[in-house]
Amino acid sequence: MKIEELYNIFIKNTSVCTDTRKLKEGDLYFALKGENFNGNLFAEKALLSGASYCIIDDESLAKKYDRFILVKDVLQTLQDLAQFHRRSISTTIIGLTGSNGKTTTKELIYSVLNESYKVQATNGNFNNHIGVPLTLLAFNKDTEYGIVEMGANHQKEISFLSNIAEPDYGLITNFGKAHMEGFGGIEGIIKGKSELYDYLKTNSKTIFCNTDDSIQVKQIGSYNNVIRFGTSNNNDTSIQFKSADPFVSVLYNGIEIRSQLIGKYNYGNIASAVAIGHHFNVPNDKIILGIEKYCPKNNRSQIINQNSNKIILDAYNANPTSMLAALDNFKQLKDKNKMLFLGDMFELGNASPKEHQAIVDYLETNFTENIYIIGENFFITRTNSFIKAYKTFEDLKLDLNITSIKDSTILIKGSRGMALERILRII
Ligand code: ATP
Ligand code: MG
Repeated sequence: MKIEELYNIFIKNTSVCTDTRKLKEGDLYFALKGENFNGNLFAEKALLSGASYCIIDDESLAKKYDRFILVKDVLQTLQDLAQFHRRSISTTIIGLTGSNGKTTTKELIYSVLNESYKVQATNGNFNNHIGVPLTLLAFNKDTEYGIVEMGANHQKEISFLSNIAEPDYGLITNFGKAHMEGFGGIEGIIKGKSELYDYLKTNSKTIFCNTDDSIQVKQIGSYNNVIRFGTSNNNDTSIQFKSADPFVSVLYNGIEIRSQLIGKYNYGNIASAVAIGHHFNVPNDKIILGIEKYCPKNNRSQIINQNSNKIILDAYNANPTSMLAALDNFKQLKDKNKMLFLGDMFELGNASPKEHQAIVDYLETNFTENIYIIGENFFITRTNSFIKAYKTFEDLKLDLNITSIKDSTILIKGSRGMALERILRII
């Protein structure tokens, strides 16, 4: 079936589903395959549960129902349809990538633009070769601005996603040490993320550049379709960091904006959203409101008051850059009785021992007590006696003297796989 024909079917039904457990009446079901599942095997169930059509790539099933549409490759068809749809709507698309802070920045931009426009954005963290097409297919003809988060852990991925989403504007949050393994070190990361700039430059689209980040400035080079923001007064939008005690405040046009985000590193995320709001003529009072009302979710730098303790829960993910940013932030807090629970950082490849050791060395020079490090990678680092290292979460649980933890300010941070939010249940 030609993509135009499939598009006609899509446009009549408009809602796409890849998981029969979440299927709604009338959805177009795409039978995707993964390592451990084959969506073709659920196509019949999808149809019986109310799917309007099922897009399948298993020839042996094709004749079973009229409403099975056989294609060569379901994933490719999903991506082609998303690109076709993107070209059929007049939505202004803002593409977003970077090592850290993509989802936070996406939510902040959404919150600001949503004050003045009809906006849609990536749902949660749906930022890969399946998530980006699904994000685009959820936009409709009334969507004025679409914010598309693009994630990557290897080269050419951002280029591939950019070619599907065809962003009009693009922003890289930062270049940090995340997914080092797949990218091949920091140089590889800079190259891989800059594929968004390459796309924008080739297609004469606009780049939002945070001039406080020298790597962004360097990567943009002499390209001139650029909107600049950050500390300097020479920028299109000038925003200054004010304080993080612990919530981050910034100064914009002399007015203080108080966010509900902790960690100085969120300054850049906030500045991006302010700059985008400003560029698209959102009135200042609405920009301020948009930033101030956004509250982080899902273990991303959340503050939780539990028993007598104040917990900074940052257990959503971790890599060397975001770990150091969180530690720097924690260090400058004036609270007494500080405690740290840090979990392994994953996907670092050969750099893993060195990066874990660097964090431990930092801990030794900047903190003096109550440090707990958890995971196989931290366990094998060289540590001083005041750092307690555990191979597993269970080992920590057995050893921890829970009753002594009170009136403390506690930082919890580790990679997703460490699921350190479990600590909340034991303290
Ligand atoms: P993912 O790659 O999982 O999609 P992401 O880039 O979307 O991650 P967020 O989910 O916004 O990132 O934030 C995850 C964590 O990264 C935060 O809880 C915080 O610890 C850290 N972080 C956020 N912004 C920054 C930043 N600008 N610099 C360094 N660390 C950051
Ligand atoms: Mg994300």
